[in-house]
Formats: sequence, structure tokens, C-alpha cells
Amino acid sequence: MDSTIEAKLAAGLLPRHRPVKSWAGFGTGNACDGCDESILATEVEHELDFAKSPTLRLHATCEAIWRGLVAETQPATPQSAHMTMSLLSAEQLRQQIRVRLAQERLPAIVVGIYKTHQGTGRPCLVCLREIGPTQMEYEVDGVSVVLIAHEACYALWREESVSRRQEKRP
Ligand SMILES: [Zn+2]
Ligand SMILES: [Zn+2]
Repeated sequence: MDSTIEAKLAAGLLPRHRPVKSWAGFGTGNACDGCDESILATEVEHELDFAKSPTLRLHATCEAIWRGLVAETQPATPQSAHMTMSLLSAEQLRQQIRVRLAQERLPAIVVGIYKTHQGTGRPCLVCLREIGPTQMEYEVDGVSVVLIAHEACYALWREESVSRRQEKRP
């Protein structure tokens, strides 16, 4: 894996500069730009946005390797300089959904009708990360608004909506 990333760097296929923004979340099945394996929904994916080169999606481990290789050729910048969203585990994200549902900051999914299409860069309602064009966007018809979410986020959101409805029952 190290050598693949190293080779890509040498070939100029991977950028050597630091991202302007980086995000961490769960994979959506996209191929990792480092090792070319897909990043599963159970794996942490790092999304790195660059000003002048395409967005990179990497496994957490591949991101660390890439960062290590790039760091050797660049002066280190303070960690705080790049915005890394706190790593949320599936359980933490679920907890967050539960709280937001309880506070009605997130509407419960009542109908299981949705459309899927390519992301357009709009933020996911659940994790607030943008849904990129390579990701699948779930569009749910809400009461007066269209709700959009990542596939993985939608699944958690729906599960929580359902269990919330069951709890409410006498
Ligand atoms: Zn990888
Ligand atoms: Zn999401």
C-alpha cells in the first residue's frame, strides 16, 4: 500500500501539497485514491479538498501514509490549520441523530420513499458533509422540504426514525 501511494506521488498522480479542507466520515464504496480498493461504509474515509486539484478520497490509513510521504517534502503546518471534522463513529453519529430527532431539529422519516442520484455538493442533512458528485445522494420527500443525505447516513436516520416511532407507541 505504501509503495502504491509512493509510486502515484512520483508519477504526479497524487498532489504533494496540503489540502485546503479535509473531512473524515464513513466510506460510501468509492475507490480510494491511494490503494484503489473501495472504502466501505464501515471504514473511515478521508476526503481532502484541494484548491487546484481534484478531491481525494482515501482510507484513514492511506491518508496517513500520503500525509507522511508529503510531510517529508514540505514544511509542517500546524494541525489546527486544516479543518478536520471530528471523527464520528457510527454509534456517535447515531447518537447525534437520536438527539436531533428528539429535539425536532431533524425530521423523522415517515415515508420510505426516496430518490437516489449523484451528489451535487449540497450538504448531507445528517452529517453535514457535502455529497460529492461521485457519491450517491438520497433525496427524501419531507413535509415541505426535500431532505438529502448520504446513503449511509440515510440508513441510520431511517432506523432511528423507525425506532423512535415505535417508542412513542403506547
Ligand atoms: Zn486506501
Ligand atoms: Zn452524510
